[in-house]
Amino acid sequence: MPNKRSKRAHIQKFCCPYCESRLWRLGGQRHYLYYSNAAEILTNLDVSRKKATLIAAQGAYIDRLKWIEEFFCEDHGKLWLRLHQNEEGLISSKLAGDEDWKSSTGTIDPSTPNPSVSEFTYRMSRRQGSYKRYYG
Ligand SMILES: [Zn+2]
Repeated sequence: MPNKRSKRAHIQKFCCPYCESRLWRLGGQRHYLYYSNAAEILTNLDVSRKKATLIAAQGAYIDRLKWIEEFFCEDHGKLWLRLHQNEEGLISSKLAGDEDWKSSTGTIDPSTPNPSVSEFTYRMSRRQGSYKRYYG
């Protein structure tokens, strides 16, 4: 039986946001959040405006303390949680939202369909068509 009063912080358990039962960690990839401009850095990190601008000038900042990870609930199936590790090493979790997906590394939200490539292909073929006409 899990003891909720346990102070062993290094063994961290995550609960399903729907039914509160314990989630299984699938051990998948961590999709870290990143911030690509000074305004985002300023919102998410405890830094001065000047420091935020400096960080932004070096490219996107990857936040190693915040990431999206896949979990599994026996009742609700696969869940994506946005995790946040604080200075003490404790990790808080919530369901990953649209904003989290937008700023995570190398991912697209699995709950939304992939952007269609057909429109791109269509435009490309049209461009090739006009190219031919130009030289034809
Ligand atoms: Zn559940």
